[in-house]
Amino acid sequence: SAEYNEQVSKVSQGLADYLEDFNIHFSDFFRGSSSDYGKEYGVGEMPWTEIQERLTFKEVTWKKPKKIVAENMEFYRKLLKTPIKEPKVDNLIRPPGKGQNYERASATFAVLVRNHELRGLASTIRQIESTFNHKYHYPYVLLNDKPFSSTFKKSIKSLVSGEVFFEQVPQETWDVPAEIDQDKMKAAMANLKAHNVGYADKLSYHNMCRYYSGEFFNHPRMQEFKYYWRIEPNTQYFCDIDYDVFKFMESEKKTYGFVISLYDIERSVESLWPTTLDFVAKNPGFVHPNASFSWLTENLQNPQKTSMANGYSTCHFWSNFEIGDLDFFRGEAYQRYIDALNDAGGFYYERWGDAPVHSIGLGLFEDRSKIHWFRDIGYKHDPYENAPNSVQCPKGKKAHIPGDFSYGHLYDQNCMANWVKYEMNDQLLGVY
Ligand code: GDP
Ligand code: MN
Repeated sequence: SAEYNEQVSKVSQGLADYLEDFNIHFSDFFRGSSSDYGKEYGVGEMPWTEIQERLTFKEVTWKKPKKIVAENMEFYRKLLKTPIKEPKVDNLIRPPGKGQNYERASATFAVLVRNHELRGLASTIRQIESTFNHKYHYPYVLLNDKPFSSTFKKSIKSLVSGEVFFEQVPQETWDVPAEIDQDKMKAAMANLKAHNVGYADKLSYHNMCRYYSGEFFNHPRMQEFKYYWRIEPNTQYFCDIDYDVFKFMESEKKTYGFVISLYDIERSVESLWPTTLDFVAKNPGFVHPNASFSWLTENLQNPQKTSMANGYSTCHFWSNFEIGDLDFFRGEAYQRYIDALNDAGGFYYERWGDAPVHSIGLGLFEDRSKIHWFRDIGYKHDPYENAPNSVQCPKGKKAHIPGDFSYGHLYDQNCMANWVKYEMNDQLLGVY
């Protein structure tokens, strides 16, 4: 529509004006925006040499990383201060009226959680229900490596407006695989712990990361669904959502939605990128010609991270919030990738997280235009948040400051500007 086009050009112009302030040209950032990467290649046809070329980050700068952080944070804040409401697409599906029949998408909330996290999960579910789900009544799948207690089940049932499934995960998908060398693992855990890598010596955390990376979507209960929305105890949802986000994913043909993008602890993923490249060299056909090459390999904001991670920026979609198409994870590319990661053993010999694993999988094997930044969803998992400037969000005492990402000393952890600058084009930006 005309209004839509006007909005698109306004956003683009706003960004262009802003970039002018820094004497940077719009086209420098939007590499591949007007013409998507690799359009000369069909899906699965980009040769390994070309993939290598794309995965060699070429932008050079005389600026110090500190300056890059400051500029990127300015860019981010300016963008998030822009008033938005919800995606400007024609077919948002509104909540049904009272007593009206509603056909939901094949979708569920999903969470891996322990009995002692009841209060934290109750808090999250209350917010999910009050901002979104009391209008749509989507079900929940709760996964645990141990049986859920009856108190836990009773309490959760009293909070949800949809069906809820309590599931114990099959032991063999949770425990350390037999192939893992226990001595090697223990030595690696001690080494990472000595370097202050969080949860390094907590075996259950490693199991959790592996489960979320490569198993949750194959759980028999999860097999019943196409889309999931991952939630987590003690997270906050503070803006109203007045459309069916699952149907948005469906009708807009999105594979994955996120709200926050961060850098990772480089020491936890030292060999993840080399293992990935080894897999890709052997299976170049899995790489999408319009993949998120630059976001994965950027080395300007935290060069020490990219260097220790052997060429991986460590940028990832923060996976405590995700809305995704389970069929992507069940697909051949991702499954084969997980097999290769399991063979390498880095879930235990290092501390690979499910966030970088999902992100690299999506960033390489999926078209980047199918990855959606849910800019309108107000979300916080301490200490980071996505705070939009939207009429859907609370005002007054409960207001969150738009673009207030985190504490100042953590600004360098924000990778969102890279996603916007390198992987989004003006059409995608114009959706808000
Ligand atoms: P962090 O955000 O990286 O600090 O990790 P969390 O402690 O929040 O854990 C991530 C998610 O996995 C949360 O939903 C936890 O409830 C869940 N989780 C972590 N460890 C375990 C575990 O040993 N068993 C179960 N059932 N869930 C776990
Ligand atoms: Mn968490």
